[in-house]
Parts: sequence; C-alpha cells; structure tokens
Amino acid sequence: MAQMNLVLLGKQGAGKGTQSQRLCATHFLVHISTGDILRAAVAADSALGRRVAEVLDAGGLVSDDLVNELVRERVARPDAAHGALFDGFPRTIPQAQALDEILAPHGVSLVINLDLPDELVLARLSSRRVCQECGKIYGEADVSAISGTCEICGGDVVQRSDDQPEAITRRLEMFRRDTVPLIDYYHQRGLLVTVDGDGTLDDVTAAIEAAIDRRSTP
Ligand code: AMP
Repeated sequence: MAQMNLVLLGKQGAGKGTQSQRLCATHFLVHISTGDILRAAVAADSALGRRVAEVLDAGGLVSDDLVNELVRERVARPDAAHGALFDGFPRTIPQAQALDEILAPHGVSLVINLDLPDELVLARLSSRRVCQECGKIYGEADVSAISGTCEICGGDVVQRSDDQPEAITRRLEMFRRDTVPLIDYYHQRGLLVTVDGDGTLDDVTAAIEAAIDRRSTP
C-alpha cells in the first residue's frame, strides 16, 4: 500500500486535533502532533521537557532544530511506515523543508488548511478543555468539561495553560507571521486544499475526506 502523509494546517482551535483523531483512525495513520510530544515531555519532567516548558507556557515557538529532530525520530519508528498525519507541524518554512527531506522519497501527499476566523478561534479556545491522561478534547457543552473528569479514562479534564486569552492572542499573531507563508509554500507545490472549519465535526470530516479522494483518484 502506498504511503500517505497528510499535513493539517490551521490556527489553534480550528479543529486540527479532533479531525486528526478521526482521519488517523480511518486511514490507519500515525498521529504526529509536535504539541502533544512537547507537552508529554513537560509532564514527564524530562530534560527536553525542562528545556521547553517556559516556551510552551508563554505560547512561543520551540526552535526549528529541536522540533525537526523530534519529528525525524518519530517518523523513523516502524508504525509510521504506512503514513502519518502531521498536526501542528510544520509551522515554519524551515520545518516544511525539513519535512520534505524527512519524508523523501514519498513526500507530503496532501496539505489540508482548516480555515476558521479569529473570533471563532477565541471563542472555541477559551472554552476548550483537555484530558490530562488520554488527550481527549472537550468543548464548552461537554459534561466532562464541566465536571472535570474524562468520560473515557476518568483522568483530570483541565484547561491548557496556553489556552488563556493572552497566550491565544500571541499564538494567533505567530500563526499569521510564521504559518501563513506555509500556505503559499504548499499552494505553489499544488498540495494545498482549504476546508472551511466552521461546520459540524461530521461536515468538516466529510469535506476533508472528499479532498483526500480527489487527490487519490488520478
Ligand atoms: P499545539 O498543541 O500544536 O498548539 O502546540 C502547543 C505548543 O507547542 C505551541 O504553542 C508551541 O509552543 C509548541 N509547538 C508545537 N508544535 C511546534 C512546532 N512545529 N514548532 C515550534 N513549536 C511548536
């Protein structure tokens, strides 16, 4: 079976995490979220975690060299042989160039740009909660978000420290500065498809699946 490598681009809160979980299950892809890898390192209080904790709390970007190396190591593991879905990576042009090199000769198959206006991002992120144990994401209306206990694993459901208003604004600015150029980078390579993120979860998933089908059907 051919290797399929998807990249999900989009502002924080556009739905990348939730759509990633769905796409990975359907297409048997490994979910590579650099944010998850970095948060796990912080939670484990590893040497890496201690290096990046302050950057994460402030909503800044970790260095390209460090994240590129984390992704290179993750892609080299056997479970990524069938393909991967990259979520939160690349975030800069140097990271995109590194990814092309890491994935050679297969390369990136499709880049999905999940589009959502800033006002909706702010509303979603300020009410987002996440399970500290299994990573399940909850919105404002979810019982688990209100009760603070994960319905899947019973873990603590908390607000991410970078989902506070100041950090959100900072991340939106960084998105404009660093990530918007990536949209051009992939557009020029004919790999980009833009999907409206302001729909139900199922509508957004269906739009992404249609884009994957179009790409796979010559
Ligand atoms: P995320 O879960 O993708 O929103 O990432 C959370 C935080 O991890 C970001 O605000 C950054 O501090 C850091 N991070 C995640 N992915 C990257 C990346 N590709 N490059 C640099 N920093 C990253």
